[in-house]
Amino acid sequence: MFKFNISSVLSDETASLDIKAIDDKMTHIRYGKNHYKLLKPIDLVGTFTNVGNQIIQFKGCIKTIIQLQCGRCTEFVEYPITIDFTQRFSAHNIETFEEDDIQIIEGNLVDLTSVVLEELQISIPVNVLCDEECKGLCNSCGINLNKKSCSCTATDVDPRLSVLKDLI
Ligand SMILES: [Zn+2]
Ligand SMILES: [Zn+2]
Repeated sequence: MFKFNISSVLSDETASLDIKAIDDKMTHIRYGKNHYKLLKPIDLVGTFTNVGNQIIQFKGCIKTIIQLQCGRCTEFVEYPITIDFTQRFSAHNIETFEEDDIQIIEGNLVDLTSVVLEELQISIPVNVLCDEECKGLCNSCGINLNKKSCSCTATDVDPRLSVLKDLI
């Protein structure tokens, strides 16, 4: 959990607070139907700053490594992620804040967990490759062509042509 007490920043304009936290309880990230394993605990560093107007700004950086699967051969890939992000908060619920994407907090505690998760989810790439040169899987036998070779390609026949072959 990335919960922080920011009372010192709330009460003092121009005050700031540096934070550093590691969450080793989160082992997976869920996004849509998929689960992604975290190979390293999520690391968060940043600074809360009172920027005036009753607004607290958090500027921080998230680091972790996610396990993804190669889009061609389905082997696991270690995918390091570094995200810089900014989020603003206020303890005062003023209507115009909503338009500015300012999160309303209650009391002195700010929970960055959902923000961190959201940032991570949107940085998961749709497709990764274990290597630019990845040969993928054989269409016929499913063998990983990076590790082994098969003889399918030589005898592989287009399914449309195999109909003709049967007729011959
Ligand atoms: Zn691959
Ligand atoms: Zn094959």
